[in-house]
Amino acid sequence: MSPKSALKATSEPVLPETSLRPTLLLQWYDRHRRRLPWRAVPGEASDPYRVWLSEIMLQQTTVKAVGPYFEKFIARWPDVTALGRASLDDVLRMWAGLGYYSRARNLHTCAVAVTRDHGGVFPNTEEGLRALPGIGPYTAAAIAAIAFDRRTMPVDGNIERVVSRLFAVEEELPQAKPLIQQLAATLLAESRSGDSAQALMDLGASICTPKKPACSLCPLHEDCTARARGIQQSFPRKAPKKNGTLRRGAAFVATRGDELLVRSRAEKGLLGGMTEVPGSDWLAGQDDARARQQAPELKGLSRWQRKLGVVTHVFTHFPLELVVYTAKAQARTRAPEGMRWVPIATLADEALPNVMRKVIAHALGLSPAASS
Ligand code: SF4
Repeated sequence: MSPKSALKATSEPVLPETSLRPTLLLQWYDRHRRRLPWRAVPGEASDPYRVWLSEIMLQQTTVKAVGPYFEKFIARWPDVTALGRASLDDVLRMWAGLGYYSRARNLHTCAVAVTRDHGGVFPNTEEGLRALPGIGPYTAAAIAAIAFDRRTMPVDGNIERVVSRLFAVEEELPQAKPLIQQLAATLLAESRSGDSAQALMDLGASICTPKKPACSLCPLHEDCTARARGIQQSFPRKAPKKNGTLRRGAAFVATRGDELLVRSRAEKGLLGGMTEVPGSDWLAGQDDARARQQAPELKGLSRWQRKLGVVTHVFTHFPLELVVYTAKAQARTRAPEGMRWVPIATLADEALPNVMRKVIAHALGLSPAASS
């Protein structure tokens, strides 16, 4: 049975026989690898600290955005022990603008753990790495492969796309993840596992792009099922998005001169650890009057005024509609417990999710970009 015909949507996966793919990939990588600040040059051993730092920074962020932050961190804290001895405040300040602040907290906690419990040396197995704070299965596999050449394949979005096209995986994501993981592992070379993984990452980032993949430049094009069928862009297959039920709520934008009242969301859950203006619960069938009752109470605050219109936002699982109220506080008005005043001019340094950028822009009459 050919590997291509073996990969039906619901059948048990039959893995392809050994092929030239791993070798072709490595040959391509040796000629076309991206130069990245955290990547060892050919012949140089990878530094686990640099690999770990870059992998944490790259979660939900682009290579372009991470570059300058990575350089700043390395200049200030050249190894994990130095980072483990830094104060969390300093780390958060250095992280400002990179977003998703829970990653910065996890980064610091992990550096402290490696310094305190491992003598400043990262564990060199996937299992040992997974036991560290803030390191999930993907990151553990990436560090194990790239820094320690362990025979494992980390599967990120780029690799998922390449593999699903190469083998025309009909099963939809996210259910297809285990199958894609198994298929991706067949692309590992006998040695140089880290380079096999980085080759696939680079291929996905530069050639097998989401739109208009440059198949004529791809080292695997003769062996790619989706390309042979001319349907590359339809992979990976994804389950249609469920819209979910509309949730409604209220957001309260209080200003004190040039400052704005904000708070941090709980660490766990939706938008965990991110910054928001105070607001009501977000509920299906939320009643405006009930939502309005959840306004923060501050001494020296004018009456809450409802802004015309609503702010809408679509999360993965539900659409949201927010009514926005504004109020002005007197100069010395203190922030309620758990909240803080921040200068509007420095909102870019806050981990503001898009929905909050929209709320603030709506309240202050700005374009959304101006609140970022
Ligand atoms: S041939 Fe095209 S679709 Fe197939 S893996 Fe290469 S770039 Fe992606």
